[in-house]
This record gives sequence, structure tokens and C-alpha cells, in this order.
Amino acid sequence: LIPPKDACSQSWTVQTGLRAAKVDAQGYGFYLAKDYDDLLDHPIAMGEFQIAQWQSNGTPHAMAIQGCIHEVDLERLQDDLQAICTSTIGLFEPKTKKAPFQSYLFLVNAVLAGYGGLEHRNSTALLCKRDQIPQMNTPLDESAYREFLGLCSHEYFHAWLVKRIQPKAFQPYQLDRRNHTRLLWLFEGFTSYYDDLQLLRSKRIDLKTYLKLVANNWNGILRGPGRLKQSLADSSFDAWTKYYQADENTPNAVVSYYGKGALLALGLDLKIRNFTNNRLSLDDIMRAIWHKHGVTLEGIAEDGLDEIVIQVIGSSFTKTWSEFKTRYIFGSEDIPIQRWLPNTIAAKPKSHSKLEKIKLQLGMRYTEVNGWLKVTHVLDGGAVQLAGLAPGDLLASINGERVTTARLDKVLTSLNPEQVLTMCFYRDDLEHECMTALDLNQLPDQFDLIPTA
Ligand SMILES: [Zn+2]
Repeated sequence: LIPPKDACSQSWTVQTGLRAAKVDAQGYGFYLAKDYDDLLDHPIAMGEFQIAQWQSNGTPHAMAIQGCIHEVDLERLQDDLQAICTSTIGLFEPKTKKAPFQSYLFLVNAVLAGYGGLEHRNSTALLCKRDQIPQMNTPLDESAYREFLGLCSHEYFHAWLVKRIQPKAFQPYQLDRRNHTRLLWLFEGFTSYYDDLQLLRSKRIDLKTYLKLVANNWNGILRGPGRLKQSLADSSFDAWTKYYQADENTPNAVVSYYGKGALLALGLDLKIRNFTNNRLSLDDIMRAIWHKHGVTLEGIAEDGLDEIVIQVIGSSFTKTWSEFKTRYIFGSEDIPIQRWLPNTIAAKPKSHSKLEKIKLQLGMRYTEVNGWLKVTHVLDGGAVQLAGLAPGDLLASINGERVTTARLDKVLTSLNPEQVLTMCFYRDDLEHECMTALDLNQLPDQFDLIPTA
């Protein structure tokens, strides 16, 4: 790496998890990568950073943040991240407490708007909003910061599940084509289950907050008609062509292997705890996968989980596991979390405001175009679909009142949940009028999760 020549880069440093061979104080110089794959797996950032550093179980960790103008509250970040990382190392290696890397680096690019992350073997590249990072003398939205910690927790978990435990189908990863596996519900879904769970276990959030996050995800899945049409195995296999090529029909045809995969992990965890009287949990499965496929780097076959589940839980679990797979992984049934909860947690039907109810019944997503309300998605079974509207239509009025994105809520609030609606809309250059009825049967199940103790 050669330093840029311009004067403003004098204060820059290099941040990367790549192994340094001969570098100067700023980090410029020679780095070593075993091969091309190893090089690709190490993002490199150059610029001005604010850096948090800590040890988790004796392994050095750092977070290098770019893009924050104000002084970052490094102490708070260090505290929170140390707790999360220590907890995750302890989950996989409760005895040795040994991390599978010599050091770990979180590279953070903080911007006005943006969110996401990519996992690597000993680092991660994260994108977030500046507002999500705690900074001195700057008000912090705690839930946005919690979301950022969830992202850190997610990508960190991938250092075990995805970067070391891998689908056999990804070994070697073929960079010139799409690589398919039916197991993304395990790799992304289980990671999504553990990302927030690790926030709870490391005491970064309380049980009430955790249950709210779980319920939010669950309710989101229950609102998507696609969950009844696509299985998690198919959602995984078709990720390249469906999940990552979303169109107007995606909510009706596709289920997220992240969201429903996380729910599946919760369901399996509850099943195992119940079956073994809390002697075992999903953690034991994760550790078994780790030792069989992660430590050895031996890819997991498409049906590779079967053997591990039965080995860990016992052959008496065979029938339960087989039914679980048929219904919720290869089938598209709803996962009945409400029936599997321990008696310390209750699932209650969510109470909605009148406006929320009506919006759920309509089943319409929209955007604003030149002052018009443009329909982007029409959900199966909703009042808007029954009325005959389609994505692309411009909704002009409901019951004679003009609707725009700004006025929609006001117009809807004046309706009641069992009312007949007359809707006027434009499709291309032609005006149409249609009638439909709001029906309480159009309401999807939605839950609140509440600690009973
Ligand atoms: Zn992920």
C-alpha cells in the first residue's frame, strides 16, 4: 500500500485485518495474503479514524470509525462491544474461551443514510448512520444505537457461522457464478436469531426490549403473504434470483430467510428446551456444528444438520425434527411460536389503533410521485387487491376524498374497520372506479410478547 501524495492525506492511517509484513507507523507498506480469496476477505480502509480498542477473552479487538465529526464516546462503545464479543466467544467455546482469530477489527463507515455490513474472517465492514454512533454532546437515539450494536453482533457471529462453518456448496466459492445452497436459513437466519439474543445475554438490552425485537420480526413475517408460498429451503436456494431481485410481487411470493430463519431458530430452541426439560438448547447444536464443521473448516452438506441434531438431542428427537423440517423448512407453514413459549413468556394478540387496523386490512404499500400516491405493492388477500388495484396505479380518492401520501392517514382514520370503500385511481392515462369492503378477516395475526414473571 502506497500513501497518497496529496497533503490532506498526511494524517491518514491504514486500517485492515490483513497481516502486515513491513509497514510504517501509518500502516503503509507490505501486507501478506495467502491467496486471492484471502486478499478479498480483508477489507482495507484509509483515512481518519476514531478508534475503540478492547480485549475480549484476551484477544485484541478494535473498532475504527470513519465519518463522525464529533468526538465518539469510545468508552461506551468499548464497554458494549467487549460485552457482546466476550459473550459470543463464550457461546462457541465455553471452556477454552478461545476466539478463532488472533485479532478482530470492526471497520465502520458512518454516513448520512445507509445501513449494512459484510462479514470477514477477522474483520467486518459496516455502514451505518452517523446518528447511530454515540458521540459527545450529541443526542443519541438509543434504539438506533441498539440497532447498530445488533449489526455488530450479527457480523461478528458470522466469523464462526459463515466464515468458518460453511455450506459444502460454497467450498470453494466460485466467483464466476451463482453459488446455491438451501441452507441460508441456517447461515443468515440463525445468525439473525443470535445477534439480538447476544445483546440480551451480554446485558446490553433487557428482556422486555428483547421480546419487543422478537415480536417485531415475527409480526413482520406474519404480514407477508409470501411466507405461505415459499419455503425457507426454496428462499435460500433462490436468493440470487428472488430475494435479491425484488419486484412488485416479492411480498406475495417470497419469505425472508433472515426473518423467518431467525424465527425458526427461536422455534427450534424452544422445542429443544422443552423436549429436554431445559437440559439442552440450540447453543448445544451450535457448538456441535462449530466443532464438526467450523474448527475443521469441513463444509456442511445440505442435509448435514440432521446427524448433528440427532447426535446432540438424541434419537428420540428424530420424529420431532423430521416433522419440524417438513413443516417449517421444506414446507411453508407458520411457526407456532405462541404454542411453544415457556410459561414465563406470554404471546398476546397485539392491540392496534384504528388506523393500524385499517392499514393492515388494505394491504397496500405506496410511494409519492409528483404529488400522487403511487401503489408499489398490493398484498394478497387485502382490500386493495380485492378492489382490483395493481402496482403502478395512482390512487386518487377514497370515498370521494382526495388522497395523497400526506393525507392518506387522515382519510383512513375517518373510516371504520368494516366499511365499504369506493376508490378512484388512474392506470396509465385512464381513470377507474372500484368498490371494496374492509373485512376484519383481512387482519393478519399479530402478537405482543410479554414476560409473565
Ligand atoms: Zn448476515
